[in-house]
Amino acid sequence: MRFRSTRNPSLDVGFEEAVFRGLAPDGGLYHPIDNPDLTELFRGLPLGIAFEEVAGRLVEALFPEMADPFAIAHRAFPFAPALSTLPTRVKSGDGPNAVGVQSKGKPSPESVSILELYHGPSCAFKDFGASFLATVMEGFLKARERRAVILTATSGDTGSAVAQAFYRKENIDVVVLYPSGRVSPLQEKQLTTLGDNIVALEVKGSFDDCQRMAKEAFVDPELSKRITLTSANSINLGRLLPQAFYYVWAWAQLRRRENLYFSVPSGNFGNLTAGVMAWRWGLPVSGFIAATNRNDVVPEYLKTGRFNPRPSVSTYSNAMDVGNPSNFERLLAIFAGDWKGMSAMIAEEVVTDDETLQTIREVYERTEAILDPHTAVGYLASQRFLADHAGAQVVSLSTAHPGKFVEVVEKTIGVRPELPPALSRLLELPKHSVVIDNTLGALSAFLLDHFA
Ligand SMILES: *Cc1c(COP(=O)(O)O)cnc(C)c1O
Repeated sequence: MRFRSTRNPSLDVGFEEAVFRGLAPDGGLYHPIDNPDLTELFRGLPLGIAFEEVAGRLVEALFPEMADPFAIAHRAFPFAPALSTLPTRVKSGDGPNAVGVQSKGKPSPESVSILELYHGPSCAFKDFGASFLATVMEGFLKARERRAVILTATSGDTGSAVAQAFYRKENIDVVVLYPSGRVSPLQEKQLTTLGDNIVALEVKGSFDDCQRMAKEAFVDPELSKRITLTSANSINLGRLLPQAFYYVWAWAQLRRRENLYFSVPSGNFGNLTAGVMAWRWGLPVSGFIAATNRNDVVPEYLKTGRFNPRPSVSTYSNAMDVGNPSNFERLLAIFAGDWKGMSAMIAEEVVTDDETLQTIREVYERTEAILDPHTAVGYLASQRFLADHAGAQVVSLSTAHPGKFVEVVEKTIGVRPELPPALSRLLELPKHSVVIDNTLGALSAFLLDHFA
């Protein structure tokens, strides 16, 4: 596969270059030039195939230049998605837990399946992209006998997926900048307890300071002469593409050729874009539902054809509080700027905070399953969609474990969801961070001192 910038068709690069650059030099996003036809591959997937096997076959088909696709899949995915069905009427008696654990109702012809994407190390779907990116970067660097430093600024969540994914990868160090006192205690533990090749810099300042410092470091000539600095942010193709794998896996479990839809809780629209890519490669999907909170720039575009980015507002599904979704540019590229084409394939649903809480409450009371606020947005969207699409089946993506959003969930249903063991373990470990000033000078000094 070759890639080019969404802004300049003449910039044509391979996967390795796209991965290390992240953003194209003209500020555009890298995007596949041709869509491979994988219809035969999809048809040949046996029912019940393991996720790792699906991932291996897709890596082999998409990146023929990669030496050992199945070893890459094996290393990148020590965790897997799961598919469960949320019973529509019956109440199960297994007690409170995450959706998948006790929801064993029979799928009805018109039903919502839950695609659980939170079984990775940070208990959110971003683990799939981050882990794949870390694995391919490690492979590329080792082959060239080079080292690199991943520099990333975080307001909490994405930084932890990145830190976990790159933990103990060879030839790579990770420096995470986070605003002191402004991330949750759990998030701070996720960033600061790993150690080894992961360094947490606790910045005396805001998230905006952290982002500015990282941006300044990337363009600093002195630093780039002495250290290979690279980013691992969510626009990186190495994070985007592997997200297509679980749509394919879910399809292979259900084997429905018609009337199958995916509902995707969306913010920056990377997850949904990856699903649309799988469809472009030939996956028989009837459509997607872009489910957002009040940050509804894309739903508005789908309804009106006008794209009007604006400052984000904060909601309970805060990983989706995005006012100018960067992957919109990729969606436009896929549909060649055709609004009608895009809105024929992507339905939209906007869910308010009140509706999010009502959904968490309603599902809990009916089934005892606990949804996190992001999953709840996608689930309500699925139900609304089903109400006027008789005979459809919707796979609703569950993007995070409810235990990550204890406060919202507890105040809604009066029950404290359990933290997954992978995370509760961290609360016991000692924090290691380096406190620095909110200046490029402070960051440069640290980087040169440790990595030059
Ligand atoms: C990042 C995130 C989203 C939004 O995904 P996008 O790819 O940015 O649309 C949804 N839910 C959770 C829990 C997230 O962390």
